[in-house]
Amino acid sequence: MNTLDGEHLHEAVRRVLRSVPFYATYDAAAALSSFPVLRRDALLGVPATHFIAGEIDLPAALASGRFRPLTTSGSTDEPLKVYADQELALPPSVWAMHGLPNDAKLTSLTSGVCVGTSCPGDIAPHGERGLLLTFRAGLFEASDAHVIRTAEAFNTFGGDIAFVNPVWLHWLHRRAQGLGLALHQPKLLVFTYQYPSRCQKRALARAFHAPQVEFYGASEFGGTDLAVGCPAGHLHLVDYQAFVETLPSEHEGHDELVFSTPLSRSMPLLRYAPGDLGRVGLVDEDACELSSVLALELDGRVADVMHTGARVVTTREFDDVVGEVEGLAFYEARSSAAGALFMKGIVDAGFSEAALRAGVLELGFKSFTFGAVERLALGMSGKLRLTGEDDRNALVRR
Ligand SMILES: [Zn+2]
Repeated sequence: MNTLDGEHLHEAVRRVLRSVPFYATYDAAAALSSFPVLRRDALLGVPATHFIAGEIDLPAALASGRFRPLTTSGSTDEPLKVYADQELALPPSVWAMHGLPNDAKLTSLTSGVCVGTSCPGDIAPHGERGLLLTFRAGLFEASDAHVIRTAEAFNTFGGDIAFVNPVWLHWLHRRAQGLGLALHQPKLLVFTYQYPSRCQKRALARAFHAPQVEFYGASEFGGTDLAVGCPAGHLHLVDYQAFVETLPSEHEGHDELVFSTPLSRSMPLLRYAPGDLGRVGLVDEDACELSSVLALELDGRVADVMHTGARVVTTREFDDVVGEVEGLAFYEARSSAAGALFMKGIVDAGFSEAALRAGVLELGFKSFTFGAVERLALGMSGKLRLTGEDDRNALVRR
């Protein structure tokens, strides 16, 4: 079930239609399910102020800190300026379900653009109890000196929660280890900013004793958090402020997640598709305390599916197979339209290309080419695009 549902949802949607300029042309009597599904291109070129509820005094909301200007990472398109409604950010008490105090300290490690803040350096305070670490000159390119500085900052701050792109934390750990430096042990690892590969989960489970959970949001929603991991490892919808639907995607048999966040006063989105494939359902009643709250299963981005020539393979389906191959630390895979698979990877001792090949061919790809490399190229927002469709030449150029 969704807490934001029924009459509560209906009322919130009506209020958005009445007060938010962007929706002025919508039929106020129509049902939410009849509204068009919005995508990022519908937001580009629209001033952020068109999404602010009419009764809000913007300068006052900014001055009081209730609204915070945010620029989205632009991982798929050009960056977008939005205002985040801070009242909808997850309360610290959410982390209490992981046994963490309200004043838990949080270390963020990801691309600076991801957190949408104008960070004055690669190591900066972030909010009252936060530390932001980033490698603006490139993660895989970071110098030893930069890795040491970052590892020391990570250790000195001693965060309770590591809120990280899993690729970034894995690489920092790997580099620090190579330099003889151990990293501080946080109490909780929260993976966000990109699909977490089994390669990273496995390596980070060996490196850190903390439980691993996922967190899901998209900055287009202006700070409204969409889903958060529970101790049992599910990704539960933040159902008191987000409503979710699953609709057929362009890939047959795979649904796309569509969210409505009508409680936001700065960036309410009605039926917005961030571009992710996935499923929604309830977990087993005995599985966790949040079993009455919908859980999401993310299958990867719509734009990141691969083709075997006969069918579509999602990031999750691919990662569930290749992420199990021992010794594969980081990877990037691309399929051609004809179903050939090209893959680059950073590997450790014990890696077997034959084992990787067997897994890939079992998925139905027609051919397989692998190259071991020292580093991979990250996208503009610091994401490692694990899977996708294009050709070998494109992969080699990166
Ligand atoms: Zn759960």
